[in-house]
Amino acid sequence: MSKGVERWVRKDIRDLSAYHVADASGLIKLDAMENPYHWPDSLKQEWLKELEVAELNRYPDPEAHDVKSALRACFNIDELQDLMLGNGSDEIIQCIAMALAEPGRKVLAPEPSFVMYKMIATFVGMDYVGVPLTKDFQLDMPAMLEAIEQHQPALIFIAQPNNPTGTGYPESELREILSKAEGLVVIDEAYMAFTDTDSLPLLNEFDHLVVMRTLSKVGLAGLRLGFLVGASSWIQEFNKVRLPYNISVLTQATVTFALKHFEVLQQQTDAITKDRNMLAQRLEGIGLDRIWPSEANFILVRTPKDTARTIFDAMKDQGVLVKCLDGGHPMLKDCLRLTIGAPKENESMFLALQKALQAVLRKA
Ligand SMILES: *Cc1c(COP(=O)(O)O)cnc(C)c1O
Repeated sequence: MSKGVERWVRKDIRDLSAYHVADASGLIKLDAMENPYHWPDSLKQEWLKELEVAELNRYPDPEAHDVKSALRACFNIDELQDLMLGNGSDEIIQCIAMALAEPGRKVLAPEPSFVMYKMIATFVGMDYVGVPLTKDFQLDMPAMLEAIEQHQPALIFIAQPNNPTGTGYPESELREILSKAEGLVVIDEAYMAFTDTDSLPLLNEFDHLVVMRTLSKVGLAGLRLGFLVGASSWIQEFNKVRLPYNISVLTQATVTFALKHFEVLQQQTDAITKDRNMLAQRLEGIGLDRIWPSEANFILVRTPKDTARTIFDAMKDQGVLVKCLDGGHPMLKDCLRLTIGAPKENESMFLALQKALQAVLRKA
């Protein structure tokens, strides 16, 4: 290693491990909450025509006006609210954190939750406070309110519904948190397509709230488009730390096109939601210790004690990749996260899981 690395790269960065993505080649990929479906051929042809006229020699529209109008129309976003786009919502988390970071300031989130909240807090030099969820993976309200009081976080992230637990929180509890918090609260609705909850109306009541969404889980993970909705006084500031051309010409053209045909994506996410509910029922009674109710496009389960890794490996040997969360957060011991795919993929996953469970239960 160059001596310079140790001398110049910040110690807190050297101590991090990079975000790990498993190799899925040859496997049924049910580890990353992707939509398994493609577009109908006719739609693909129409899309290619749009790309044909995209001007790759020019910088993209830095404000992505067409994308924003399409998002407003598609998600019924109030004229009173402003919008900012990110290269995935990950980038938006980063912009918000950069704008608020000062030494000693804190980021608070319930945990286990989305790992990027903590990672990005570290990148920008903020302190991170994690407040454990209850055993049912619901908000521990007394603990949340006390931590907010004690730490006075500049920034609070709440994923609604939550990743990796799949659980949603009652709106009344979000209101309580908003009433108590003085810093900015970000409600992350990455899984909006699979739940009935909608936090956009809360924007009219709380001026220290912004709502973040993404098209990744809806079916456009490869494009990278996240968006933030909130008062222009906040958005204007975050826009200053956003890199000017963060949404490419190809992404802008494709998102504008895709949102015009949003009903196609919606049919797909509706099918995924139905299949999730069916799978949740089938998972009962095959020997799992616990299945959490899910409002997202995945289901979190707990395997019998100390068998998650064995079951994960056995499923992989049968050609199915899910996410093993054991070894991450202590509350996720023995947990596997199963992304909902196409019916055939779900069937293969179910059979692989059932077989792996039978094998470990026989041994026990
Ligand atoms: C997947 C996910 C994101 C990130 O989405 P991108 O737009 O793909 O960056 C953000 N928040 C939560 C809770 C997620 O699960």
